[in-house]
Amino acid sequence: MRSVIVIGAGISGLTAAWALRDTARVTVLDSAPRVGGKIRTGRVAGVPVDLGAESMVTMGPDAVRLAEAVGLGDALCEPAAAPVTIWTRDALRPMPPGHLMGIPSRPELLAQSGLLSGEGLNRLHVGEDVEPLPPTTDVTVGGYLEPLIGREAVDRLVAPVLGGIYGGDAYRLSLASALPFLTGITESGEPLMTALRRRESARAGAPRTSPVRGVRGGMGRLAEAVAESSGATVLTGTTARAVCHEAETGAKAEAEAYGAWRVHADTDDGPLALDADAVILAVPSDVAARLLGPHAPRAAKALAEVEHASSAVVTLAFPAGGGAREAFAGRNGFLVPPVDGRAVKGATFLSAKWSWYAQDAPDVFIVRASLGRAGADSPLGAPDRTLADAALSDLTAALGPLGEPLASRVTRWERGLPQYHVGHGARVDLVRDELASLPGLDVCGATYQGVGVASCISSGLAAARRVAPETEPFTRQEPADEQ
Ligand SMILES: Cc1cc2nc3c(=O)[nH]c(=O)nc-3n(C[C@H](O)[C@H](O)[C@H](O)COP(=O)(O)OP(=O)(O)OC[C@H]3O[C@@H](n4cnc5c(N)ncnc54)[C@H](O)[C@@H]3O)c2cc1C
Repeated sequence: MRSVIVIGAGISGLTAAWALRDTARVTVLDSAPRVGGKIRTGRVAGVPVDLGAESMVTMGPDAVRLAEAVGLGDALCEPAAAPVTIWTRDALRPMPPGHLMGIPSRPELLAQSGLLSGEGLNRLHVGEDVEPLPPTTDVTVGGYLEPLIGREAVDRLVAPVLGGIYGGDAYRLSLASALPFLTGITESGEPLMTALRRRESARAGAPRTSPVRGVRGGMGRLAEAVAESSGATVLTGTTARAVCHEAETGAKAEAEAYGAWRVHADTDDGPLALDADAVILAVPSDVAARLLGPHAPRAAKALAEVEHASSAVVTLAFPAGGGAREAFAGRNGFLVPPVDGRAVKGATFLSAKWSWYAQDAPDVFIVRASLGRAGADSPLGAPDRTLADAALSDLTAALGPLGEPLASRVTRWERGLPQYHVGHGARVDLVRDELASLPGLDVCGATYQGVGVASCISSGLAAARRVAPETEPFTRQEPADEQ
């Protein structure tokens, strides 16, 4: 059986390890003291709370199939039905139905929402009949959409939605990499809003279910269950320092049992060297760049160029009886347009969005607010108290007096989200091209095919299939001696 080392125990690396459970002996290394990476469940006021990712999209089948395969099918839950809400122009305003990533399909409904000024609405109507051209070069989301829907609609409708996913800037994110489905929609040559309305009516008969799921008890359960079910040896507190090839180590010459690759790592107990037939780098792009450098210098340079956004998540627990439940009712949270200059870029009312919070912890109401935007000063240097006060101040301004929270917790995500800026697709292609000539060395993770948890899961599955093409992750193969 071949041996594989996976570096990084975030959801991408854990999924790769899980997918290889029947085809390889797998060792997973992570520098952190626990598995999960950006998926982390901690406690606030005694309640398990997601401090990083809190849901995953289910448009592709991989995420749900993985959750089911590791025994969490029954724990998947749908959020409460509520419109996307934008806090702008001094009020919380629901986004009208029919939008796609904030791109409106029905300007007449927008007028009622008050999301745009009269001027912004007029500009939107002007764009209604414009036939968009499929972009011939990689362009920014904002640059492509502005001639179609106007600057104000980009700033107040699209930018907050993109900010919620990438923490990114609509005028730097690549249309092809950040909104790849839009190119397909515009290929018909129809005016954008007509194409969106047609898409909406095509779905009219389909049952309305949310495209996202959470995990009862927290997404951290998913990471732990995947690690457990993988059967891999998981070494936390183990930082990979270098990846070497047999040509440099002479390992293959020492014994046939050794693989072609050797990983040097640091642990609290001293240095560690592990050999394997293949190595999968499931780490953020700057770390991947360092480890790939000696073997794939062009890929390493491309990865080192990927920028990241940092954010701080402030989780607040309010007494449920003090009017908090009423203050937050009817919404799952809100997003804030960057142009409004607030400290908070978005808030999620966890106890309203996920029914299990109210069932398991009826006495508290949990809310989380995210601070930090691409291009703005990083909030991470500020003390916890300052960040918690800024979050509470913005929540109060949006919702009215909320009283004192029972507990608060600040989680810093330094360089938490890779930015798919213009040129990102070409960088990823370059990485793939160079790695194609290095059998047994592969990459997966948030840098490559989407930053969301579901995309990371698909990316981990794909890496497993590349290093062991016979891998059939969702078909359990019986061990040879039981056949
Ligand atoms: C605050 C926040 C909220 C989010 N919310 C959502 C959400 O609700 N829904 C959604 O779909 N997505 C969300 N995302 C995005 C998503 O969570 C991440 O993109 C995804 O979890 C990344 O997974 P990954 O395995 O690729 O990387 P990571 O989770 O970053 O894992 C990489 C791992 O590599 C380890 N590592 C780094 N260097 C080394 C080294 N030298 N040696 C060994 N190990 C190393 C790290 O410790 C880490 O555990 C959110 C992200 C953030 C930051």
